[in-house]
Amino acid sequence: MTSISPVARDADSALDPSPERIREMGAQAVDWMAAYHEAVRDLPIAPQASAAALREVLAEPLPAEGRDFTELLAVFRDVVVPGSRHNGHPRFFGYVSAPGTAVAAVADLLASALNANLPAWRSAPAPVELEHVAIDWIKEALGCDPGAGGLFTSGGSMANFTALAAARHRHCGAEVAAHGAAAHPAPLRVYTSTETHHSIHKAAALLGIGRANVREIPVDAGFRMDVDALVRAIEEDRAAGAEPFCVVANAGTVVTGAVDPLADIAAVARRYGLWMHVDACYGGFARLAPSARPLFDGLAEADSISLDPHKWLYLPADCGCLIYRDPEAARAAFTLDADYTRVTQTDPAEAFAFWDYGPDLSRRFRALKVWMTLAHAGSRAVGDAIEGNLDCARHLAALVDASADFEMLAPPGLSIFCFRYLPPSARTGSRSAADEEAIDRLNERIMVALQRAGSSYLSNASVNGRFALRGCVLNYRTTRRDMEILLDDVRRAADEVTAEAP
Ligand SMILES: *Cc1c(COP(=O)(O)O)cnc(C)c1O
Repeated sequence: MTSISPVARDADSALDPSPERIREMGAQAVDWMAAYHEAVRDLPIAPQASAAALREVLAEPLPAEGRDFTELLAVFRDVVVPGSRHNGHPRFFGYVSAPGTAVAAVADLLASALNANLPAWRSAPAPVELEHVAIDWIKEALGCDPGAGGLFTSGGSMANFTALAAARHRHCGAEVAAHGAAAHPAPLRVYTSTETHHSIHKAAALLGIGRANVREIPVDAGFRMDVDALVRAIEEDRAAGAEPFCVVANAGTVVTGAVDPLADIAAVARRYGLWMHVDACYGGFARLAPSARPLFDGLAEADSISLDPHKWLYLPADCGCLIYRDPEAARAAFTLDADYTRVTQTDPAEAFAFWDYGPDLSRRFRALKVWMTLAHAGSRAVGDAIEGNLDCARHLAALVDASADFEMLAPPGLSIFCFRYLPPSARTGSRSAADEEAIDRLNERIMVALQRAGSSYLSNASVNGRFALRGCVLNYRTTRRDMEILLDDVRRAADEVTAEAP
């Protein structure tokens, strides 16, 4: 007689390993992680990698038979890690990039191990409650009203997209939801400054609002939206038969770190009945730093706020966040009836579903890493680290102002600094347009040489038409000393490129 026992299985397979094997994999991986965090300050920041060389080592046909974990970890260690840019290096100042925290990496492991999926409360009761808690903490950090609510998203671009979808729905209603953007009789208008992140334009294109209907408002000398120009644009568009429905303010632009005058923009939004969205993806968490806090006056009046915990909460990607001042106003844009979304719970907290507030159905348990990082470090330590980043940017600006061979191209905004190197011939007297172009080209070559050398990393920006070396301090490891090393590294790169033939 043969019988198949329901517990009969391979007790230790690749898909279903034994506890011992799981412990072994975990120990090896965590050993690597501890060593990496210790070594990251001394690694060359950017890899000397080519796509061809990486493919040569990595590409292979789908393997039919499995391989040992140790072998795969060796590929990770020997190919993937050296072929990666080390965003956790204290002198990686490119773009807007967080270092990650160790506790968040562990939280990601735990979240994946639990494999919680968070479309709705009933799918993951405690994880959903933890997401509410983490969102409440973020609301508190921003000074939002207790009635506000929100959710984590894959990133800031998705948060901006979701906010514009909610704003459009409030203005256009069910007609456009049912029949598409063409069902709306008049062109819509979104207002934002010339400094705004392109994800706003992308969202407008994807939502059928149209990129051309994103009206860019000029900025003042500090790269902040000119609110009088905003009012003029709204009046002009209304007179021409267009429908202004949304204004997007910046709380930390990516080029210069400018924070728009949020309270003034909120007053305009109220006056004209516009949805006010604030893109605070980069800057929002700086409200935890006392020296930056006054910049955020008016933030809580916004109808929606985008944030990126995978920026200034220092978390590893991915984690964006969207806060609605009135979540019920957003709900209509996303709620949809389907058999699998029918809710049987009667307690409203238990009938809650994130799918009513954004486009996603299945959702990762991102809240765990947010909650663990904030609960483990405490808001004071996070605020202190952000304050330290602001101080580093100001220190860099002071060093630049005190040296003849550099000049700032914009005042430092939050933790972003834009500057350039000046060759000896450009340090005194006036400069022609041709001189300016030569300085642009020189700085571009300096940036490439700096990135290649690997000790410091800057990206570039265009500031008033000039090529800027641009940096953003977004790392709890970065110190004032790192800013001094950065300038020495830039000088070394300048010597190197001026020694070469131009
Ligand atoms: C980073 C950023 C975005 C885009 O966020 P992702 O998480 O990269 O999608 C949008 N706006 C601002 C101001 C940003 O800094």
